[in-house]
Amino acid sequence: MIILDGKKVKNEILDNLKKEVLSLSEVPHLVVIQIGNNEASNIYINNKAKMAAYIGYKFTHKKYPEDISEESLITEIKKLNHDSSVHAILVQMPLPNGINSNNILNAIDSKKDVDGLTDVNSGALFHKIDALYPCTPSGVMELLKYYNIDITGKHAVVVGRSNLVGKPMAIMLLNAGATVTVCHSKTINLSEHTKDADILVVATGNPHLITADMVKPGSVIIDVGINRTNDGITGDVDFDNVSKNVSAITPVPGGVGQMTVALLAKNILKAYKINKEGVEHDN
Ligand code: NDP
Repeated sequence: MIILDGKKVKNEILDNLKKEVLSLSEVPHLVVIQIGNNEASNIYINNKAKMAAYIGYKFTHKKYPEDISEESLITEIKKLNHDSSVHAILVQMPLPNGINSNNILNAIDSKKDVDGLTDVNSGALFHKIDALYPCTPSGVMELLKYYNIDITGKHAVVVGRSNLVGKPMAIMLLNAGATVTVCHSKTINLSEHTKDADILVVATGNPHLITADMVKPGSVIIDVGINRTNDGITGDVDFDNVSKNVSAITPVPGGVGQMTVALLAKNILKAYKINKEGVEHDN
């Protein structure tokens, strides 16, 4: 059984990016926008700042009050879209009630959208056009590639259908030639599907949803879940028991979460290159 070591792969990716950034004419610049003071968001933003500092990216954290209007926020984002010294923009989720996250995300110039969540970039993924894709599912694909795990013709089952993880994950696996099943909270008899998966990706936010009797022996298990429990951080998969019977599995922590950071780092450099090409933006 192989442990798919997200931390190791992330470190290799960051070290390669660090070297490449030294050769650039300008320093890639990421702006993270935060609304309010969500505790989890503070931690995630801090991690992004650390990653940026390690690679040598310029990092700006813009914090706005909880009661900022949607209109003012969009105005701020559009200023960044037109600022040629900014190559990457990320709006930290969740947003306060009353702000439509779709409107905010789509205000970001798709060429600076390093989270890959604008409709333009989602459409590009759908059409298999190279673009900025969402970091978590991209991180999963990169991890599978690193460990030479074959996808073509395999039955991949994705549990979860969010715009952030489940849906783009399913499309990426489909684009890579897998036969894909997507499960969600309304799926009847979940284990019937999961037991048939050669590659099982779980992204639901339910600690230990996937137990040993729900997986196919010898399969590959990707646990995207991050759940804060009394026992610390756990995934959506009962790692101790599931790992006994599969060929490869990601740990939590140390798996997909690490790859998400790595792919954000890659997307920042990619956005820098796209913007340096001088193509006009659409906002
Ligand atoms: P969402 O809450 O947006 O989506 C959860 C999905 O899981 C929904 O589609 C939901 O179905 C489905 N679901 C919930 N309960 C069940 C169940 N019992 N059986 C089957 N399906 C179920 O979450 P996200 O997609 O944003 O995140 C999922 C998890 O991944 C969370 O733990 C989150 O913290 C983690 N995460 C980890 C990241 C990383 O870097 N490792 C990055 C992003 C998220 P329905 O649509 O029917 O409601």
